[in-house]
Amino acid sequence: MASTPAPLLHEQAYIDGQWTSAASGRTFPVKDPANDALIGRVPDMDAADVTRAIEAAHAAFPAWSTALAADRAAILKRWHAAVTAHGRELAEIMTRECGKPLAESIGEVRYGASFIDWSAEQARRVNGEIIPTDQRSRRLLVLRQPVGVVAAITPWNFPLSMITRKVSPALAAGCTVVLKPAELTPFTALALAQLAEEAGLPAGVLNLVTTTDAKRVGGVMSTHPLVRKVTFTGSTAVGKLLMAQAAGTVKKISLELGGNAPFLVFDDADIDAAVEGAIASKFRNSGQTCVCANRVLVQEGIAEAFIPRFTAAVERLKVAPGLEEGAQVGPMIDDKGVAKVMRLLQDAIAHGAQVATGGKAHALGGRFIEPTVLTGVTQAMACTREEIFGPVAPVQTFRTEAEGIALANDTVFGLAAYFYARDSARIWRVGEALEYGMVGINTGLISTAVAPFGGVKESGIGREGSTHALEEFTEMKYLSLAGLG
Ligand code: ADP
Repeated sequence: MASTPAPLLHEQAYIDGQWTSAASGRTFPVKDPANDALIGRVPDMDAADVTRAIEAAHAAFPAWSTALAADRAAILKRWHAAVTAHGRELAEIMTRECGKPLAESIGEVRYGASFIDWSAEQARRVNGEIIPTDQRSRRLLVLRQPVGVVAAITPWNFPLSMITRKVSPALAAGCTVVLKPAELTPFTALALAQLAEEAGLPAGVLNLVTTTDAKRVGGVMSTHPLVRKVTFTGSTAVGKLLMAQAAGTVKKISLELGGNAPFLVFDDADIDAAVEGAIASKFRNSGQTCVCANRVLVQEGIAEAFIPRFTAAVERLKVAPGLEEGAQVGPMIDDKGVAKVMRLLQDAIAHGAQVATGGKAHALGGRFIEPTVLTGVTQAMACTREEIFGPVAPVQTFRTEAEGIALANDTVFGLAAYFYARDSARIWRVGEALEYGMVGINTGLISTAVAPFGGVKESGIGREGSTHALEEFTEMKYLSLAGLG
């Protein structure tokens, strides 16, 4: 991966093809969660700035939405090439902003870039339909047209891929976009915008607003009449708020919200594979992803063999700042994240959970927490209901397959679930019975641009990735052509 001639660290937002400050002139600092070092400052924008961005996106819509799909695809292909070429630099920015180990950031660049590539290809496949007519003199057709201006709000835990997963299918479908990245990770987003600009994206097609006032700016994005679609990844509470706000103007909406992923290990599982999968699923990004295993549910017949091996694997994880060689578990993103993990740990211990390993702040200090395994966990403990978002694995045991499924489904969430088993009839039974949008069977990692990512129940609405990705950004229009003799 080549290094860039121009620095990718931008301290301005991007509206209507211009690098710009907030109208108020205010800025806010962005810090490294590993050591609180200042990375830089970005504009602290408000309602007036985001309104300008929405108007710019609206003005750019007629030309972009009617451009040839092949021309939109060509720009996206160039953006993909630029992101790939600058992968190392983007990964370093990402690790500095959000703390994840550099190896994971490099992986995220590859994963995030794959959505741009996939969307570029899909741009040319937004086909309509011709319906066999119900009257001789008529012909019935369906067009798929871009919805209009899209408002995208993204989280800090995947500073790059959550953006490309939304923005690239929107652009491919012919929509224009106003993006508000998380206030903790704006620099990755700004670097992406620069690379999109260099790839030839016309002014106003992608606009990027940075702010600490997510409530107010998000309020404008979800209520402004020129915005036709809101796409959001983040907490369930904010998702519900945006859904309510978007109802006022009946916007299309996609939500990727919280999860409470069960990780089931059945008696017939391959233990070594299950340990490896549990580590990958639980400790990625220090446990701070919405698809991280939140609960490890182990069948009684295998628990005695699984738990010590899993605990030993957790003890081998290297805790270190993300830029350090070999780091596997980095810091929590902020003090709020640390406090939540500590509260859930203390609650579990108070309710009788045992600490198999870890269980406290790490010797490195700051926001580092020891990778932890809790055993003897029960449904009475808050960690079985709330998303932990940290390196803590609570282990529960169950007797029968039916009991395991019931425990797994006993949550308001329904994003990702995982299970390990070898019996093929069980694989089908459990795969069909889990009330989740995504199920990993004998794997702890499921995300790919070619498959539909999304949840059911309170985990969300809509899907990202796959051949369905662009549907979220288009509307069907039915044409009834009469008088044809
Ligand atoms: P997390 O707990 O992962 O930070 P949030 O839902 O708070 O989850 O944040 C995800 C994104 O939602 C971020 O970009 C954040 O700034 C934004 N956000 C937070 N509160 C609001 C709000 N009231 N309206 C719109 N966006 C919001």
